[in-house]
Amino acid sequence: KAGRMADSLDFDLYIVGGFPRDLVLGQVNHDLDLVVEGDGIEFARELSKELGGHLDIYHEFGTAVVSLEDLKLDIATTRVEYYPQVASLPEVEHGSIQQDLFRRDFTINALAIQLNQASFGQLVDYFSGKKDLEKGLIRLLHNFSLYDDPTRIFRGFRFASRYDYNFEENTEDLFKHAIELDVIEKLSSDRLFNKLELGLKDRNPVRFISLLDEYNILSYFSPGIEWNHETEILENNVTKVLDWLHDLEIVTSFEEWVLYLIVLVHGLNETEIKDFANKFNINKNLFDRLMTSLKADKYIRILHDAEDNSAIYYLLQGLAIEDMLFLLIKDFSLEEEIKLYLEKLQWTDIEVSGEEIIALGYSPGPIFREVLDEVRKAKLNGEVETYEEEKEYLEQ
Ligand code: ATP
Repeated sequence: KAGRMADSLDFDLYIVGGFPRDLVLGQVNHDLDLVVEGDGIEFARELSKELGGHLDIYHEFGTAVVSLEDLKLDIATTRVEYYPQVASLPEVEHGSIQQDLFRRDFTINALAIQLNQASFGQLVDYFSGKKDLEKGLIRLLHNFSLYDDPTRIFRGFRFASRYDYNFEENTEDLFKHAIELDVIEKLSSDRLFNKLELGLKDRNPVRFISLLDEYNILSYFSPGIEWNHETEILENNVTKVLDWLHDLEIVTSFEEWVLYLIVLVHGLNETEIKDFANKFNINKNLFDRLMTSLKADKYIRILHDAEDNSAIYYLLQGLAIEDMLFLLIKDFSLEEEIKLYLEKLQWTDIEVSGEEIIALGYSPGPIFREVLDEVRKAKLNGEVETYEEEKEYLEQ
């Protein structure tokens, strides 16, 4: 339908970006980025009239979004970009599809599929993107690309790690030169952290980090971060721990990428973690996770020495799920203790309350807490189970 609509307006219409790339790879991509050689906004208006759905127009970018029930279409006009200065915002003009593809980051992302009826489904490949996909190569489209937009360095690492690709030789040199010339310094810390986050959220965070290390980029995040054999082992343990948690089938909510981040910064000392958190505006919850990781070795020792369930409970009760998983990433032999806590101990509730203690003739006071804590301990350790047993325990 979109193709026919474009035909009637006499526009050429293409699907670009991740969709054609992943289609060639036989993978599914739900991002539908359309470009129109003509007028993208006019096309979007006509299309939403025809298909219904909701239309948002962004005049300042010359783009539009048509949101249908379970489909979102991003629509732009083919354009050409000029970067007046390093890492500045580009100046944009209408251009041909070829120019539009040339302004993109890598050949594998510069493919298009035509949607007009007469040539529906035809792959448009000016820069041999298909060949690079087959060879597993990340190749820049032009020599100034990384100066124009240094975030492409991180995009390159993300695609290289996601698909397990390598950099084409000249591209590798361009990466090394741009990095040596410190182009990353031009990025704001917000953007820098966002690029790290995207990489850690992608399919192969461990390779992503090892690429950051290989190209000497970790120090932009903190001078103290080290990628060594131990870190690599720990990063690899993350998947194992996530699989373990998945098999437990308990409901928890946390973001997996945070575990990779904790491992990445776990060698930093307190001051370095604080500097890192300040520089990147880290939120309170994440900051707490990073700080707790400083005490991991101590917690691991306590758990190994725990003599009964209540000792496990009182330690883990104060920790977030990410903290516990980090303990496992460091020492998987604690799996039984942490499993016991997650599946059972954390839900331990006692049924007796202050009322039963008053009934025994005591008046309310700080002693209540202590007494109730004693009952809880007995319950955690399996000495009492039912409400009746709790009451008997109280009476003793
Ligand atoms: P993902 O699978 O991670 O969504 P994607 O390539 O689809 O990857 P988007 O960020 O949605 O990612 O980008 C869509 C397309 O826009 C890319 O395929 C690429 O052609 C182009 N693009 C995105 N960011 C840049 C950039 N910084 N420089 C040049 N082109 C870019």
